Amino acid sequence: MKSYLDWSDYKDAGMGDAYADIPKQGGDFAKAVAVCINSRQCETLARGVMCPSFRLDQDPNLSTGGRVRLLKAALNGELGSGGLFTPELVEAMDLCVSCKGCQRECENNVDMSRIKVEYLAQLNARKGLSLRARLFSELPELLAKQHWLIRLTAIRNRHPWIANLAERLLGISRHSPLPEPVYTARQTTLKEIEGGQPVVLFADTFCNHYAPDILTAAVEVLQAVGCQVTLIGVRDGEERYCCGRTYLSQGRIEEARQQAEQLLQKLAPYAESGMPLIGLEPSCLLTLRDEYRALGLGEMADLVAGKAVLFEEFLVKGVKGGKLNLPWSERAIASQQPVVVHGHCHQKAVGAMKSMRKVLKQIPGISFEMVDASCCGMAGSFGLEAEHYETSKAMAEQALLPALSARPEALIVANGFSCRHQIKVQADRPALHLAQLIRLRMG
Ligand code: SF4
Ligand code: SF4
Repeated sequence: MKSYLDWSDYKDAGMGDAYADIPKQGGDFAKAVAVCINSRQCETLARGVMCPSFRLDQDPNLSTGGRVRLLKAALNGELGSGGLFTPELVEAMDLCVSCKGCQRECENNVDMSRIKVEYLAQLNARKGLSLRARLFSELPELLAKQHWLIRLTAIRNRHPWIANLAERLLGISRHSPLPEPVYTARQTTLKEIEGGQPVVLFADTFCNHYAPDILTAAVEVLQAVGCQVTLIGVRDGEERYCCGRTYLSQGRIEEARQQAEQLLQKLAPYAESGMPLIGLEPSCLLTLRDEYRALGLGEMADLVAGKAVLFEEFLVKGVKGGKLNLPWSERAIASQQPVVVHGHCHQKAVGAMKSMRKVLKQIPGISFEMVDASCCGMAGSFGLEAEHYETSKAMAEQALLPALSARPEALIVANGFSCRHQIKVQADRPALHLAQLIRLRMG
C-alpha cells in the first residue's frame, strides 16, 4: 500500500512488543494505527472531549478504538475484497470529525485525525474527488480570485430554492446558512512601535476573508502590548499564503504540501531570526505545528513549528512577564456582562485553554466560564454537508447549546471560525474572538 503522508515517525512504534499487533499491510501507517492498545477507554463517557461521534449514541464503531479495530481488520485483509473501502469502515471514518481529542486524551495518543487525512487520500485515489470536496478544499483560492463566489453565497443564503438546488447538486445542506465572506479589503494599520518586540501575525484565510475585524483587533492588542507587527497572509501584496488546512481536510495531500512549502519559505526567515509566528485561527496555526510534520517537509517545518504560537499562548508566554499591561477601559471594567468561552477542539488538544484562562483572568472585572463541551459539530465543513447536518446539530445539542441557553445575557467567545459559525447557525448568537474581547475591554 502506497502512503501519501510521511509516517516515518512511527517506524519504531510497537517494535519488539509482542502485543503491538501490527497489521500485515500498510507499513508505518499500519504502525500508527497499531499504537491503540484496545483498552476501550474511549468507549466510556468520562469527562473530556473524546470522541464526539461515539458520545452521540455510543456505537463502538464510532469510537477511536472502533475505527482502529476496523482499520486493522482491513489492513489484515479480514474485511474481504472491500478492504479499506468497506462501507462499515467508510462510515466510521466519515463520522470522525478530526477533533484531535484522541491525540490528547487517548492513553496511547492514537492520532485519528492524521490517520483520517491518509484515509481520505486513499479514498480519493480510489474514487476520485467530489465537486463538493473540490469546492471546499479550494476555498482559499476561490475567495482570493472569484468575486462572484461572495455574491453567490449571499444569494444562496437568502433564496431557499437555490439552497435546495445546491443540496441536490453539491450535497451542501439546505438547512445551514453558509458563512458569508466580506468584500472590504483589510484596513489594518500597522504602526511603528519604537523598540517594539518584532512579531509576525499570520492572516489566515478565515480571518482575512470572513472576519477581518479579528485581524484588526489582534493587531491593535499586539501593538498595545508593545509589539512591532508584520502581517503575513492572503493579501500580502500580490502574494498569497495559506496553511493548506482546507486541502488536508479533504485528503488532498499534494496540494496541501505545495501550500505548506510556499508558506514555510515565507515564514522561515522570520522564524530563523527568532520572531514568534502568531496565529488567530486554531485549526490554521496548529496545522503548522502538527500536520506539517507529516508532510515530509524537513528542517524548515521544524523551525517554523518551533516558533508558531496561538494568540493566547503568545500573550501568556511571549509578552514580558506574561502581564498584559493594557489601558483597560473603566466603563468596560464596570460592565457586568458575563463571558462564556467555547474552546476550539484543536485548542483543547494542545492544552491552549489554559492560556485562554490565564489571559481572561487578567481582564479587570471580568466574570467568565468555560463551556465543558466536546466538538461543536461544525468541524470545518462537516456541519455544512447535507448528510452530516443532523449529526452536527446533535453534537452541538449535547453540551454547547444548553450551556449557551443557560447564559442568554452572556458575551460568547470562540476563537474557532467554524465554532463561531455553528453558534450563529444553531444558537443564533454572535461570538467574538479573544482578540476582539480584549479590544472591547480596552480604553
Ligand atoms: S484508541 Fe486509545 S483509548 Fe481507545 S482503545 Fe485505543 S488505546 Fe484505548
Ligand atoms: S479525531 Fe476526534 S472524532 Fe476522530 S476519532 Fe479522534 S476523538 Fe474521535
